[in-house]
Amino acid sequence: MALNIKRPNGTEDVLPQNVHKWHTVEKIARDVAESYGFREIRIPTFENTDLYLRSVGETTDVVQKEMYTVSAKETKFTLRPEGTAGTIRAMLQNGLLNEAMPQRVFYILSCFRHERPQAGRLREFHQFGLEMAGSQSPAADAEVISLAKSLLDHLGLKNIELYINSIGCPQCRAKYYDALRAYFNDRKSELCETCLSRLEKNPMRILDCKSPVCSEIAKDAPVILDYLCDECSQHFSKLQSHLNTLGIEFKINPKIVRGLDYYTKTVFEFVTTEIGAQGTVCGGGRYDGLIEELGGQHTPALGFAMGIERILITMEKQGCDFLDQRKCDLYIAPMDENALPKAMQMAKQLREYGYWAEYDVVGRGLKAQLKYANKIGAAFTVVLGDDELSSGKVKLKNMEKGEELELSLDDKFTEHFDAICVDNMLGNIDSLMNTDEL
Ligand code: ATP
Ligand code: MG
Repeated sequence: MALNIKRPNGTEDVLPQNVHKWHTVEKIARDVAESYGFREIRIPTFENTDLYLRSVGETTDVVQKEMYTVSAKETKFTLRPEGTAGTIRAMLQNGLLNEAMPQRVFYILSCFRHERPQAGRLREFHQFGLEMAGSQSPAADAEVISLAKSLLDHLGLKNIELYINSIGCPQCRAKYYDALRAYFNDRKSELCETCLSRLEKNPMRILDCKSPVCSEIAKDAPVILDYLCDECSQHFSKLQSHLNTLGIEFKINPKIVRGLDYYTKTVFEFVTTEIGAQGTVCGGGRYDGLIEELGGQHTPALGFAMGIERILITMEKQGCDFLDQRKCDLYIAPMDENALPKAMQMAKQLREYGYWAEYDVVGRGLKAQLKYANKIGAAFTVVLGDDELSSGKVKLKNMEKGEELELSLDDKFTEHFDAICVDNMLGNIDSLMNTDEL
């Protein structure tokens, strides 16, 4: 049988010519998160399966259908399907929750879910996410939502709607569950098998079912907002008034219940209609019971996760700017073996300065080398032959302008090159300043 060595379905390669797009999102995400006082945390790619059973919840799509679980001897591990459970586990296990509150951490990581691959729905995908532990105030909810909004703005994204909802606390939910059960019981025979099993245990999960029949039935189901207790109701109105203070537009969408079991009170999503069905670019909410559920002291907390692939698809679609791709600063073309040692020494020095310097390591002739330098977009080139070696002078060619400048091949070469690069950059800025655009 032929071996299958192809990339698995639902995974993607990020090639060097595209990696700057990822760097753009990662850099802006880090900068914005840090400006709100969040610090980066890195957690393992897999955890004990029990962690997800306990936190994500046994009636969720993630646990029922999507986890990649491997057995090693007697232990079961699961590739992380999301970042919150592992992050809270790490915060608990390392005593972060005994330190000054609130604790704020963010992460950029890969997640694994066995789903049907489609545009914006992968089996390995990436999230930027964060968690804030130690505040039950709606000001914390507003802070986290404001961070997400600010990040989307800094990425240059437009037309992304914010939907908020409150799914209450266990107290309000008891009455709501009864109402949902009564509603769905009448149409029990039409529900999918998974939802049928959810009816007793967790009827709210039915509202999140992706099957067209179930979601049609769910359309007229009772909404949680009618069942909120006083405390949850006040929390929700306070959040709305904070969002107004911050100038953040939102819509209330009582249908948002979120895919994971641990949410309480506030839930929210940022959604675009521009990239098809998988338009939720960010989802989050409050999970006041999770830390206790995982063995910690009662600690209110909340967070969100953004799907980086969906963000990138939207940025491309909207023509957003990405950070510039780095290019070769100087290509040194030795004409023959004789000139190679000098090329090596020059490149070594330039690299110490942080320049991207290259010389021929293939053994190509001059013409082929210059063609290569062009292809990689080198800003400058020099040719090194017997003449240059004996005169101690080279011609530095500015590839964009075609200009040539004579430079001495002495110890100061790198310093001179550095000065020229700075001039060149300033020159570019000058010429930009002279255009009408600025
Ligand atoms: P969906 O309803 O689209 O399945 P979800 O509720 O399962 O999303 P979350 O668990 O809240 O998603 O994950 C947070 C974010 O991660 C989502 O809003 C989305 O942007 C992204 N995401 C989730 N699943 C995938 C996936 N399979 N492929 C790509 N991105 C994903
Ligand atoms: Mg999902």
